Amino acid sequence: MTIPKLLLEVQNRRSDIIQLTSDLIKIPTINPPGTNYREICEFLSKRLKKSGFDVDIIRAKGALADTDKYPRFNLVARHEGTYSGPCIHFNSHIDVVDTGHGWTRDPFGGSIEGDKIFGRGSCDMKGGLASSIVAAEVFISIFPKYYGAIEISATADEETGGYGGVAWLAEKGYFNPKKVQSVIIPEPLNKDRICLGHRGVWWSEIETKGRVAHGSMPFLGDCAIRHMGAVLEEIENNLLPKLNTRKTMMPVVPEKAKKSTLNINSIHGGLEEVNESYNGLPAPLVADSCRMILDRRYLVEETLKEVKLEIYEILEKVKKNRPSLEYSVKDLFEVKPSYTDPKSNIVQTVEDSISEILGVKPEYVVSPGSYDQKHIDRIGKLKNCIAYGPGILELAHQPDEFILISDMLDSAKIMAMTISKLLNEDVIN
Ligand SMILES: [Zn+2]
Repeated sequence: MTIPKLLLEVQNRRSDIIQLTSDLIKIPTINPPGTNYREICEFLSKRLKKSGFDVDIIRAKGALADTDKYPRFNLVARHEGTYSGPCIHFNSHIDVVDTGHGWTRDPFGGSIEGDKIFGRGSCDMKGGLASSIVAAEVFISIFPKYYGAIEISATADEETGGYGGVAWLAEKGYFNPKKVQSVIIPEPLNKDRICLGHRGVWWSEIETKGRVAHGSMPFLGDCAIRHMGAVLEEIENNLLPKLNTRKTMMPVVPEKAKKSTLNINSIHGGLEEVNESYNGLPAPLVADSCRMILDRRYLVEETLKEVKLEIYEILEKVKKNRPSLEYSVKDLFEVKPSYTDPKSNIVQTVEDSISEILGVKPEYVVSPGSYDQKHIDRIGKLKNCIAYGPGILELAHQPDEFILISDMLDSAKIMAMTISKLLNEDVIN
């Protein structure tokens, strides 16, 4: 039996997985603006070449946010098996969000304390990337003659939409289902959960317009903020309660995200806020413009068209009572919901591996926010895709972010076992 050997060998790589994770954390790939993408790709390339992978480093030239100062570099590595067969692909994003305040450790120190590795990106998701690399390398060392191929990609810009990363690669055919048959994204969803997808997103900017006048004679103008107030009242009294009654059949976590949600991200009306260096009084003006950014997360049971229509209906209703209201709606960002069938091959295989290694039946979850699965699904047209990886979701983007070494080792075992189930002889034949 070589499976116990496979698992034992992952366990033996404990110090390697720690070192790799810590080294990755030490390369600060903060996005925005997107620093050190080339450095991290070159670091990974050196390692993966040594393990027998063919490595491509690809710049998403001309993609959103790609500039000569902050180029969007991505890495795709492929290890070819001895015999033809399916390809399993592990995709991790290399970017991390800015550190923010409240750290008690160096965010880019990669320090190790007991079972924890600390640092920005430890959990989201350099620990997951390290786990997938070790899993693949160990599998290849124990089963050098296998069927199919293993790919590992390390991609830019997930935190800002993925346009210089997975979206770009998907456009170029890297996620063509003829070439890649299953994808695991090792995002930190907890080692005993399988994430099937995410809700949809619509970001928009609503502007109400008015007419400027002297603040002492507001009746001569038309206040855009009051118009927006009426819009907000409609949202508060009618739309939000309605959204709260809609519940999806998708297992979104946390529980409250099973419903449709709407966040008002920001609102700006009237004069721009005065500069800190100015300590005088503001000018008396009636506001001629008010802008509001909405973040609407929608369910697989709703359509984007209906979601947009709801907002237009509110604006029209308000306009009936306020005939002078002029408004505009600008689409900023939209993502359709993504949902992989729980009966699909990748879900079932990872589920079996989790059960065998952890002795529990995994929980299926759906992410409240979107991640790179959207591009693999919508652009790549590849449906056999899930997020599965070590790390506690709630720690992502927090100060003193950490990952448990034991979780990484368990996840790496589950990933290695999954590769073995998909690419080994007894399964293929
Ligand atoms: Zn992430």
